[in-house]
Amino acid sequence: MPLAQRLNNVETSAIRELFKLLGKPGIISFAGGFPDSAMFDVAGIQAAVDRALKDEPGAALQYGATEGYQPLREQLAAFMQAKGAKDVAADQLIVTTGSQQALDLLGKCLVDPGSTAIVEGPTFLATIQCFRLYGADLISAPIDGEGVQVDALERLIVQHRPRFVYLIPTFGNPSGAMLSLERRKRVLELAVKYQTLIIEDDPYGDLYFDAPPPPSLLALSEHVPGSRDWLVHCGSLSKVLSPGLRVGWMVAPPALLAKATMCKQFSDAHTSTFAQATAAQYLKSGAMPATLAHVRQVYGARARVMGEALRGELGEAIEFVPPQGGLFVWARLTGAGGKIQDGNEFAKRAIAEGVAFVPGTPFYCANPDPSTLRLSFATVGEDKIREGIGRLAKALG
Ligand code: PMP
Repeated sequence: MPLAQRLNNVETSAIRELFKLLGKPGIISFAGGFPDSAMFDVAGIQAAVDRALKDEPGAALQYGATEGYQPLREQLAAFMQAKGAKDVAADQLIVTTGSQQALDLLGKCLVDPGSTAIVEGPTFLATIQCFRLYGADLISAPIDGEGVQVDALERLIVQHRPRFVYLIPTFGNPSGAMLSLERRKRVLELAVKYQTLIIEDDPYGDLYFDAPPPPSLLALSEHVPGSRDWLVHCGSLSKVLSPGLRVGWMVAPPALLAKATMCKQFSDAHTSTFAQATAAQYLKSGAMPATLAHVRQVYGARARVMGEALRGELGEAIEFVPPQGGLFVWARLTGAGGKIQDGNEFAKRAIAEGVAFVPGTPFYCANPDPSTLRLSFATVGEDKIREGIGRLAKALG
């Protein structure tokens, strides 16, 4: 059957292949990118569903506006305002079917075959695939423990004049890194100086463990004149409330937002009104702060346990920056003591020992560092984390 040529730009992800092995009984998996289902506020969501159906059945069950259900847009604007983006208004955002759809709409609106875009090395795999599907030629900007290296980013912008730069500044997937305040300001200055669009993907910013991260690029853009014209911000309720709701959103300059809305119309007409009305009721109920406090506490404890176990069990054979939020530890095998240094090989041995993680290679659009790996602590209880890291140590030999 003749298929569109753009499909030749992407392959099914290596991670999917790995996930097939996870069905093995007794496996402890650090491989997922999911939040913990045990953390879902089922009672709170049930109450929100009940209220949505009682108060607004016509809206919750009917077709709706492509831009999103107005009460939810207002709640989401208030949610961002409370985090420092004080001048964001409801009409500056559209609701999307997860933030994944925002990425897809951005690909549709911004990428021509051969367009250049810069992403972090490493970055979210589905973003790489999504932009490549539209024909993007992706350039990898290096990161360190403080996120993207801004000097290198500036050089790449000058050299490649990309259509846009895609960043996950806060607790990146897979890097877990938190871009420093200083670097955030510089990124916004680069956007203005080189008139280059920056896409801030921010599904993890609320999941900090101790202190809140620096303000989002969106919040900071209010202090960097002209930068809002060059900024897109993608948010999501997936990691803090429920990914099954498929509620995300996108703030973008008006002309781009209008085109993205048009594309969304042809794609899914609108995000489920039932899910939107539920999310709006949930946010309105005031339950979110307690939910956030709970998930921060649980994930923070698990992250600490994983960090301690990795240091204790694998010692110098592994290095990592302990994450200050999010769902992931991003680590590098050092090869110390003649131990294995290849993430793919280590993943195979680990599966044989009954523990899984994702090797780092697929997260790079170019020049992968084969010694890297991503471990998620989010869905595994503290004792099982210790046991799983013990198995990893065994796999390391
Ligand atoms: N961006 C990043 C960085 C992610 O890690 C994810 C989910 N793993 C998404 C976007 C998509 O999330 P959702 O569509 O559920 O909002």
